[in-house]
Amino acid sequence: MRTSAPILYRMETAVRAWPAHAQTALARAGYRSSAPRNAVVEALAELGCGVTAREIADLLQERGRGVGLASVYRALELLDRLRLVQRFDVGEGVFRYEPAHPGGEHHHHLVCQTCGIVSAFEDPGLERAIETLSHRVDYSIDAHDVTLRGECPACHSGG
Ligand SMILES: [Zn+2]
Ligand SMILES: [Zn+2]
Repeated sequence: MRTSAPILYRMETAVRAWPAHAQTALARAGYRSSAPRNAVVEALAELGCGVTAREIADLLQERGRGVGLASVYRALELLDRLRLVQRFDVGEGVFRYEPAHPGGEHHHHLVCQTCGIVSAFEDPGLERAIETLSHRVDYSIDAHDVTLRGECPACHSGG
């Protein structure tokens, strides 16, 4: 399972600001700074798009940070409860996480069902369509998830 680098350069500023935002929100919610949790926040900011708890634990392991998988799960659960991360499942039965930005900057995902690569995309037309739809159905929409599944260029060209 590979995760591609985010393709959204406009997201970069938001991504850079996220660790400080997350730490402030944690402190406000009454959580004292903890080394394992800080390491998870840093890893999420660095890995960026759609990572699993296992991938975070592996990265921290590689760096000798000594944060076990159970601590990674605990940190992710807390970040999810505080809505600091976006949690999604691309159909593997395992959750993927990425930073949730307070300004609403977000992207969606493409999943190759042959090789498993997860890529990011954003599309202003799609966002406008969802906005228009929210008026039509008279719903105040807080969030939406869009995941497109299919075959990536490398797989469908036989490469
Ligand atoms: Zn993503
Ligand atoms: Zn969207």
